[in-house]
Amino acid sequence: MFNNDTIAAISTSYGSGGIGIVRISGEKAFEIAERIFKGKKSIRQVKSHTIHYGKIVDPQDGSIIDEVLLTKMDGPSTFTRENIIEINCHGGIIVLKKVLELVIREGARLAEPGEFTKRAFLNGRIDLTQAEAVIDIINAKTARSSKVALEQLEGKLSVKIKAARDKLVGLIAHIEATLDYPEEDIDKITEMQIYNSLEEIRNMLSDLLSGFDKGKIIKEGIKAVIIGRPNVGKSSLLNQLTGYSRAIVTDIPGTTRDIIEEYINIQGIPVRVIDTAGIRETGDIVEKIGVEKTKKAIESADLIIMMIDAVDGFTQADANVLRFIKGKKIIVLLNKIDLVENEGDTSKFHELKGINELKSIQELEGITIIKTSMKDGRGINDLEKEISRLFIGGEIDTDIEGLMTNVRHASLVEKALNSINDAIIAYHEGMPMDCIVIDIRNAAQYLGEITGETVSDEILNHIFSRFCIGK
Ligand code: GDP
Repeated sequence: MFNNDTIAAISTSYGSGGIGIVRISGEKAFEIAERIFKGKKSIRQVKSHTIHYGKIVDPQDGSIIDEVLLTKMDGPSTFTRENIIEINCHGGIIVLKKVLELVIREGARLAEPGEFTKRAFLNGRIDLTQAEAVIDIINAKTARSSKVALEQLEGKLSVKIKAARDKLVGLIAHIEATLDYPEEDIDKITEMQIYNSLEEIRNMLSDLLSGFDKGKIIKEGIKAVIIGRPNVGKSSLLNQLTGYSRAIVTDIPGTTRDIIEEYINIQGIPVRVIDTAGIRETGDIVEKIGVEKTKKAIESADLIIMMIDAVDGFTQADANVLRFIKGKKIIVLLNKIDLVENEGDTSKFHELKGINELKSIQELEGITIIKTSMKDGRGINDLEKEISRLFIGGEIDTDIEGLMTNVRHASLVEKALNSINDAIIAYHEGMPMDCIVIDIRNAAQYLGEITGETVSDEILNHIFSRFCIGK
C-alpha cells in the first residue's frame, strides 16, 4: 500500500502571485537538491531546518532557472517524517513548473493529491481525523470553519473518539477475560457493570453526534432563500448583506432575471443566499407560489427570509405563503420601515395594515419579525444575529472544541451508537455475554475507522484523493 519513493509537487496555490514553493519529500530529496541547487555550501554540509540562498541550475546544460531560498529538513522532524526539501521560487508560475520538472527529471515522482498528508498519516505523524482536518482547512470557506478544522488538526476530536473507543476496548477485554477464564481467580465483570459502561459510552457518542449539526453548518453553511413580492426589496437586502451592489436594483419589476446566489459570511457562518427575484417574470410570486423554481428553492432551503412591504402591509396572500412554508425556519422582515416610521418612533407600526394578523402568526408559529430598512440599514444587524441564533444558538466560540464537521465521522459515530443500542437491547432481552460482546466489538471497529486504527485501504485512498496536489 505504501510507496516510499520520493515525491514532489508545487505546494502553493496556482494564481498570479509570483512566489511559490516546490516541495520534495522522501529518501532522494537531498540527493536531488544537491544536483540542482548551487549555493554557498552543498546540501550535504548544511544543517537541518535551515534556509539557504542560491540558484536552481539545470545540471544538463548549466542554465540558471531561478534564484531561490531552499529549506532543508531532516526526517523524522518533518510533516511527512521523511527528509524534506522546500524550494521557495521567485520567478512566477512558469519558472515554478520548470523547477518541478527538473526535480522530477532528477528522480522524484509527481505527488498525488494529498500524498504529503497521506505520508504524514502513514508514518504516524497525524491520525486520520487530523489528516481530514488538513483537507477542511484547505477548503474552509470562512474564518470560523477553518478554526474548527484547526481544532481538529490539533486532535481534539480524536481525543474524544479515542476516549470512547478505549472504554469499549477495555469493556471487551473484561468481558472476554470473564468468558474465557471462568476458572481463574480474576475480577469477573457483572452484567450490571456491562450495562453501566454501555450507558456511559452511549452518552459520550450522542454528545459527539449532537455537535455534528453545528459543525456541519459552520463548515458547509446554510442555504437561505429570500422571498417576497416584486419591489419589496429582495435585491437590496442581498446588496446590504454582501456589502456591494451585486444585484441590479431598480423600481421596475422584472429587472433581476435569474435567481441570484451569493455566499456571504454572517458571524462566521457561511450563508448561501438565494434571491428569487427572477421569478417575478412569471408573475407575482406571492400570488403564484406554485412556480416550480421557487418551490424547489424553498424545499431545499434551511432558512426562508420572507420580506413584507411595510407600506402595503401584511396581506392574505402573505399569510398563505407563510402557511405554505410551514415547518421551515422563517424570519419575516417588515421592510421599508423608513417609509412608515422615523427611527425610534414606533407609533405608526401599530396602524400598519394586517399587523394584527402578522402578530398572531408570530405568536402561533414563533416566527421572528424584524423591522428593516434597506435605505438606512436598520435591522440588518438584528437579522444577522437572528440567523446566528437560529442555527448555532448564538455564540459558539466556547464549545467549539472537538466539533465534528465531517460526514464520514458522523456516520461512523452513528453506526457505533446503533451497535451500542443493539447491545443494550440484547442486555435487556437477557442475551448471554458472548452475544452482547459482538455488538460492542462492532462499535469499537466503527470508532477505529474514524481515527484510522481500523481503516481499509479503499477508504484511505478515497479520503486522500480529496486533497489538492502539493498538500
Ligand atoms: P426586489 O424586486 O424585491 O428585488 O426589490 P428591489 O431591491 O429591487 O427594490 C425595489 C425598490 O425599492 C428600489 O427602488 C429600492 O431602492 C427600494 N427599496 C428597497 N428597500 C427599501 C427600504 O427599506 N426603504 C425604501 N425607502 N426603499 C427601499
